[in-house]
Amino acid sequence: MIEAVIFDLDGTLAETEEIHRGAFNRAFADLGLEWRWDVPLYRELLKVTGGKERIAHFITTNGGDADPAFIAELHKAKTAIYTGLVASGGVPLRPGIKAFIDAARARGLALAIATTTSAPNIEALLGSALGPDWREVFPVVGAGDMVARKKPAPDVYDLVLRELGLAPERCVAVEDSRNGVLAARAAGVPVIAVRSTYSSGDDLSGAAVELPDCEGLSLNLLTQVTPLSLRS
Ligand SMILES: [Mg+2]
Repeated sequence: MIEAVIFDLDGTLAETEEIHRGAFNRAFADLGLEWRWDVPLYRELLKVTGGKERIAHFITTNGGDADPAFIAELHKAKTAIYTGLVASGGVPLRPGIKAFIDAARARGLALAIATTTSAPNIEALLGSALGPDWREVFPVVGAGDMVARKKPAPDVYDLVLRELGLAPERCVAVEDSRNGVLAARAAGVPVIAVRSTYSSGDDLSGAAVELPDCEGLSLNLLTQVTPLSLRS
């Protein structure tokens, strides 16, 4: 019996990656850097989870010196740009997400977030998409800056499971990327995978169910998810 649904944020609840990419590029320009991340490059860079880690990876693979203080400054500038964009324009939830959330709440399921992104980004997006009372919808939130290791490590899922007070087999994760699927599975949580713009080429085979988009999400799917502990 499933008692909670744990959602990834970027790519799953909303197609935020293009806004992240634009914010990185604006921060680079604002700090006088000539770097520019186009879509094919960003698709590669997304294999590194966490904004600061992604910048560091980009610098070192281009032969540069990944100075932590500079990366922190750059990432702070990017986060300010991103949260401003999200809070002003609003990034819509993916089609199908709101209906699924409403149905899950009506059924009495607990809802949680397990994301690699940072707390200000979560607040900006969900405050804009769901309104100021969004914490009533998602009382448990695990963010990237609350744990030692980001996805594909299980840390953020372990944190959310502790706060929910539930065993992993009582929960289902909704994820759009390979790193997300791996993180949930490493924590013992079965996964419904929903493809997104940037994860179209990802191997999502670790998921119990794979959907082309979020419009196929339904409570019926939860009964099809076999606890990992029961698998051979
Ligand atoms: Mg994602």
